[in-house]
Amino acid sequence: MKLHYWCSHVPVTKAPHTGPVAWEKTMSQSSVSYLWREPEAVKGFTTGVSLHSHTNQSKETLDFISELSKDWSVLQPVIRWAERRCKRFTGIDPDYARSYWTPPLTPSLAFDLERRQIEEKLQLTGLVSITDHDDIQAPMLLRTVAVSRHIPVSVEWTVPFGATAFHLGIHNLPSAQGTAWMERLAAFTAMPVETRPLKLLTEMLAELDELPGVLIVFNHPLWDLYRVGREKHDVLVKEFLAVNGQYVHALELNGLRDWKENRDTMTLAGKWNQIVISGGDRHGIEPNANVNLTRATSFNEFVYEVRRERVSHVLFMPQYAEPWKHRILQSTLAAIRNYPDFPEGSRMWDERVFHPDADGVTQPLTQLWSEGHAPVICQAVLTVVRMMGAGPVSSGLKLAWNNRGEIRAALAGD
Ligand SMILES: [Zn+2]
Ligand SMILES: [Zn+2]
Repeated sequence: MKLHYWCSHVPVTKAPHTGPVAWEKTMSQSSVSYLWREPEAVKGFTTGVSLHSHTNQSKETLDFISELSKDWSVLQPVIRWAERRCKRFTGIDPDYARSYWTPPLTPSLAFDLERRQIEEKLQLTGLVSITDHDDIQAPMLLRTVAVSRHIPVSVEWTVPFGATAFHLGIHNLPSAQGTAWMERLAAFTAMPVETRPLKLLTEMLAELDELPGVLIVFNHPLWDLYRVGREKHDVLVKEFLAVNGQYVHALELNGLRDWKENRDTMTLAGKWNQIVISGGDRHGIEPNANVNLTRATSFNEFVYEVRRERVSHVLFMPQYAEPWKHRILQSTLAAIRNYPDFPEGSRMWDERVFHPDADGVTQPLTQLWSEGHAPVICQAVLTVVRMMGAGPVSSGLKLAWNNRGEIRAALAGD
């Protein structure tokens, strides 16, 4: 299926509840702060680092449609009905497993959005590492443009593991070997379990770890993305870390996962002598909800700090305090919105959604609609979904989904 913190046993010590400062510190130099509670958090730092975000070069599964209808059981019959109608109009059965969508932002729009957030909101120099799923096209393209020529060659690597797959952020591959590495990583992902040598993953990670500039992050480790079940997922995470943890440089606090999961990740990191790092995982048009703070002047220096000095300062941006489900919905809506000002090929939602045609060949939806535009009924259902993200309906949802209370309780250590 595709689409999509260091000290043993004393991981997180709460800062005393004095003054406006609300941060948590591990026994090493790692800290987590929240800009909306601690406006001075950036003091003393010179650079912000945006890690883990996606561009239109990323292929994402369409699972969000079934996720959305799960949360919105009232919508389920509507979606099923629309699916049947779509079939009647196009002759094609919706095949979510073989379909994918691509996020709306082109590599340069994504790079600018992330850098601007750091420069304008934090008044710091911005370093950006873009990590599409199993693809390095975005950084390779950006390296040919003067303004972004120092962008690291990074990827979010899908690593099949037992009954599931994990996502590893592999940042800052040596640019001359980027393509060769990508081929090896992709070959691993595609390899059937039966033919895959038992130690291959560990050997590849060891080789990557030998490259001093490379940063290996275990992205959203506690997210049971492939739905194998919570307990099974946790066992697999343990197995993975027991064997490969020595080559993993940090565990990610993910900007699109909820507060509880991130807290559990901090505890996990503590148990495994790992540090935590930021990863916004932006897919839409809202910049990463967390960044790293550093005094490094280059991505290489930043990697040195994380790997050798074991230092990481995670800063959550104010958008993280918004109700989680509302943010997930917004991210979904970003995928099905039209952007008339964007470059051709990424303006209309149906140019960014891909589905196999009657012959099984994957095509943008625009090619599948009989008259070059979406059948009225498909447009109607998308309109309903989009409406949920607009104006009054959305504020209603925001109230219903308000989990600010949960965040507050978690911050207070309840
Ligand atoms: Zn991921
Ligand atoms: Zn991601």
